[in-house]
Amino acid sequence: MADTDNQPRRALGLFRIAGIRISLDISWFIIFALVLFALSAGYFPRSYPGYDTQTYWLAGFIATLLFFTSVLIHELSHSLMAIRCGIEIPEITLFIFGGVSKLSQEPKDPKTELKISLVGPLSSFALAGVFGLIAKILVGAPTLLVAVFQYLSWINVALGVFNLIPGFPLDGGRVFRAIWWWRTGSLTRATKVATDIGKTFAVALMILGALQIFTGLLISGLWLVFIGMFLRGMSARGYEELIIRKSLEGVPLGEVMIRDVVSVPPSLPLNQLVHDYFLHYTYRGFPVVSDHAVLGLVSLSAVRGLSPEEQAKTVVADVMMPLREGLVIAADASLAEALARMVQEDADRLLVMQEGRLAGLVTKTSLLRFVQIKQILET
Ligand SMILES: [Zn+2]
Repeated sequence: MADTDNQPRRALGLFRIAGIRISLDISWFIIFALVLFALSAGYFPRSYPGYDTQTYWLAGFIATLLFFTSVLIHELSHSLMAIRCGIEIPEITLFIFGGVSKLSQEPKDPKTELKISLVGPLSSFALAGVFGLIAKILVGAPTLLVAVFQYLSWINVALGVFNLIPGFPLDGGRVFRAIWWWRTGSLTRATKVATDIGKTFAVALMILGALQIFTGLLISGLWLVFIGMFLRGMSARGYEELIIRKSLEGVPLGEVMIRDVVSVPPSLPLNQLVHDYFLHYTYRGFPVVSDHAVLGLVSLSAVRGLSPEEQAKTVVADVMMPLREGLVIAADASLAEALARMVQEDADRLLVMQEGRLAGLVTKTSLLRFVQIKQILET
């Protein structure tokens, strides 16, 4: 369910490949423009003089597009391998300098982790080989055309090498974590060590960037600082997610399920929904139930922005989110499964059903509260 109480999503959905949603982060447009500009107005004219401006921009555009296609192929290789290993991948988001595959769960064993993480850099190196071969075949063609493929070959080598740096969550960090995990048997500890290396590496990048800025290399310095900041954020998040998943594993849904579910009838006018439900119970969403049958969910966002007159004229059935399979979870599922489902469905609450009847409700807030309390008890 698209929960609108959260911040608006900054990603733009593109298309689906093998059931995986491919989306672009807003930051991607900035980086596309930067790469395009750097190639068309900088690198190509400087290294291969003698063409007109239009030709440079055309070459730049083709190179940029194929570069980002290469990033997508790198990410897809991770996802397809993960799917082969039985892990669902709901979404890939292309970010500033690469992509992030959203895994709905952690790999089950070190071997799976190793396979999923290694296939990315390997596919980058394979792409580098293919582009290099095309450049060889094209010898004799206009030099700028050959240069486009030489650049693509080089940039894919760089992409592969960068991702092999052993800091989590980069692929190299995942490889490192898999080996550590295999040797010690503890995923949590392995993640902690790999994350620390990742953070150290990120800080080193930032320091290097700052030094470059002081010595006058402003643009490349800013780049390094930027990549370092991004990496640092990613490693911290990756570790937190793991801790949350770990504390939810094997805990039955019943532990945090809300049993006294307050439901609303579909014929209820929205002004009554606001006063008698949202303001009264202070919940952000309610199941819509008629004759013991669940019809859907109505959330706070559905009434936001409606005038009192409009609210009086509209009933719950008009604005509710109709029930779909993804929003329902079985009562015997675990909390970890509930969290994976929430990530996959982009939902902040799920309906718990037992023998066709509504047994309860589980919310993201209650999951997080559970994790917090467990962490306090364990430290
Ligand atoms: Zn990768």
